[in-house]
Amino acid sequence: MIRHTEEKKTKALLSGRAGSILVAAGLIALFAYAAFTFLGMRNFEAVPLGSGVTRTGLLSEYFPALKGSAGDTEVFYLEGSEPGETVLCLGGVHPNEPSGVVAATLLVENAQVKTGKLIVVPHSNASAFSYSTPGEATPMSFTIKTDWGEQEFRYGSRLTNPIHQFPDPDVYVHYPSGQLMSGNETRNLDRSFPGNPKGGLTEKVAYAITEMVKKEGIGLVIDMHEARLMNPIVNCIITPERALTLSSLAQMDLESSTKEPWHLEPSPTKMFGMTHRGLTDATDALAVLMETGNPAMDYPRGPTTEKLIVEGKDEFYALAASRGLLYVPYSEKGLPLQHRVARQLAGADKLIRVFAELSETGDSIVVEGIPSYEDVETYGIGHFILKPQQER
Ligand SMILES: [Zn+2]
Repeated sequence: MIRHTEEKKTKALLSGRAGSILVAAGLIALFAYAAFTFLGMRNFEAVPLGSGVTRTGLLSEYFPALKGSAGDTEVFYLEGSEPGETVLCLGGVHPNEPSGVVAATLLVENAQVKTGKLIVVPHSNASAFSYSTPGEATPMSFTIKTDWGEQEFRYGSRLTNPIHQFPDPDVYVHYPSGQLMSGNETRNLDRSFPGNPKGGLTEKVAYAITEMVKKEGIGLVIDMHEARLMNPIVNCIITPERALTLSSLAQMDLESSTKEPWHLEPSPTKMFGMTHRGLTDATDALAVLMETGNPAMDYPRGPTTEKLIVEGKDEFYALAASRGLLYVPYSEKGLPLQHRVARQLAGADKLIRVFAELSETGDSIVVEGIPSYEDVETYGIGHFILKPQQER
């Protein structure tokens, strides 16, 4: 009888242990899956090189302290046979604003520079591509159908990954202005210009970009962003006073050629850290910033899905638009990424052309091959995306 009870106890103990081991194994597998998924987010899409690319480099070449860090990123150079002006196009200063990232990628893959030099940085804040915004349930990536298959693009976060820059201060003191901002803005690349070589990772990235603008003698910087649909600063070119002639000529041409609203926003003179203010003040370049409307931002929206990012359709925004609450035209057709990328490319193309016209020679930079507004709208983004490893 005693032996029988002991056996029962032993069996119960063993089955309890087996259960615990199973639960522990399950948890380890779950953690491993989550860890590998999280680490995998650090590897985002490689940009295939178009035939116009004459060389590639790294941002750390302008500030060696960045080398090997999560802030280092690829720089693409498209140089013409004739010397001339240099233009820099930035995408991914905010990696949750995909039209700028895709437009910059299409520039690398399609542009042909005849005179001068075009420099493109598609993933300006590389660290912020390595995770999605916590608590927002955003997809890790989105996919574009192309003529040869599908191309995946990472959908990152607005701010530098806290794993790479931690902790946030209670109050972020912008360098060198001393302007105070909320603590997490210390990881916002578009609040960090002109940068600080002794600051956090985000300020170092901004510093490296500023150094690039100085060392390359860049005359024009075009920073491509997206904005909330309920934000009045959308469908616009944000322009500092020095770039007003350039931006207003481009804006008038763009309104008439695209039949779309484009408006000018002045770059605030006493609000520091943004590319258009920081780079214009710290260098000889004219720095402007373009905003398209992104339906995956702002909060009246439904779930943030890959479909919403690419197709831009949301019933709540349609309702908000019918009540006059949005600052962009919005119909049941939505605001597809294709349309937003078409705008970014049309804007970049026009700004470069007007910049050249305003130069002394009138042809200081000549860039061809940028997919036109009409062609992107007609054939789609995918038509212009190169197949990885099969460069033109
Ligand atoms: Zn932005």
